[in-house]
Amino acid sequence: MSGKNSIKKEQAPCPYAKKCGGCQLMNMTYPEQLSWKTARCIKLLGRFCHVEDIIGMQNPAHYRNKVQAAYQFTRSGKVVSGVYQSGTHNVVNVNSCLTEDIKADEITVYIRSLLPRFRILPYNEDTKAGFLRHVLVRRGFSSGEIMVVLVGANPCFPMKNRLCDALVERFPEITTVVFNINPHKTSMVLGERSETLYGKGFIEDTLCGCAFRISPASFYQINPVQTGILYNTAISFAGLNKNSTVIDAYCGTGTIGIAAAKYAGSVTGVELNPDAVRDAVFNAKRNKTDNIAFVKADAGEYMLEAAKQGEKADIVFMDPPRAGSDKKFLSSLVSLAPEKIVYISCNPETLARDLAYLTKNGYKVKKIQPIDMFPFTSHCEVIALIMRNFSSK
Ligand code: SAH
Repeated sequence: MSGKNSIKKEQAPCPYAKKCGGCQLMNMTYPEQLSWKTARCIKLLGRFCHVEDIIGMQNPAHYRNKVQAAYQFTRSGKVVSGVYQSGTHNVVNVNSCLTEDIKADEITVYIRSLLPRFRILPYNEDTKAGFLRHVLVRRGFSSGEIMVVLVGANPCFPMKNRLCDALVERFPEITTVVFNINPHKTSMVLGERSETLYGKGFIEDTLCGCAFRISPASFYQINPVQTGILYNTAISFAGLNKNSTVIDAYCGTGTIGIAAAKYAGSVTGVELNPDAVRDAVFNAKRNKTDNIAFVKADAGEYMLEAAKQGEKADIVFMDPPRAGSDKKFLSSLVSLAPEKIVYISCNPETLARDLAYLTKNGYKVKKIQPIDMFPFTSHCEVIALIMRNFSSK
């Protein structure tokens, strides 16, 4: 099942690799990377069940549909833009990154070249002088729509409309430009306040036949080719039917739940971030999905309450952040006793920890499928199908 495209070391030299350090597996060919990731998953998860070979990409280059470039002056006064050198806040000047969308990189480089003309200075985190901190570009893979977010350190941006016009003229694919203000001393890219300079303030994309709205701050998987495979695999593991009662825990903007709803009886999405919940409600309406509802809550609290009320769920999708789930969630999940759990994990270490809990408490792991969402890096996405062990109940 592995991707056949084999980028060889000598074919894919990244000129920034040494300075940047962001791609831990850059010194391996792509097939070597895939074998490394499958072996890591077997090591961490093989004691629970057979681990399938990782599903790789046909063409693993330039997969990131979300690019965040930081802007900085060098000591010699030159403006640079790109990624932070691993573990530092020194910007590596990047023109085209092997993992990033080519058009998105072109836009960040063009903005770098425009700064003198518009008398915009990059922001200095130490002296707090200057203005431009980051440019965030998101691109809808199937829609082709592009969003550009200009992140400034303060609200005073006199040239904003002229810069916006210059961008749209050069890149007509840009459908929206947003000005975001981030005055804080923080490593977060975006601040709370935004002003739309052009277009709708968000873009749309299509995944698994459903349309999704992507706002500047909302979570959206960054590898669109593999995300389709990820969601379809998760939905096929669930084996849904029109009587299934489903919970989509840690649902973000509702993507998995909405894609699954057409095969299920009813779905409840649970998510902590209020902006994501707002987008999820919008997305459900946009897709005319009327058998899904969303709850803004801590997933653990929600499950605890659901277990107390004696609610029923046949299938639980869970897609927690890298830290994995928590005891509150897992113990309530066991009390709720769904027949199937489909665990979508971006960290096989915390997945192993959570599987150890579930298998001690009446569940059995039936399938484990790694999917390569992040070529060239050591990160790995894994889907596990976990079923209630009827013989132990
Ligand atoms: N399933 C979605 C999002 C996965 S990212 C997708 O595929 O797009 C994980 C999500 O969990 C994020 O949206 C984050 O805001 C949410 N989250 C983190 N901690 C949470 C908690 N304790 N309770 C509920 N949601 C949480």
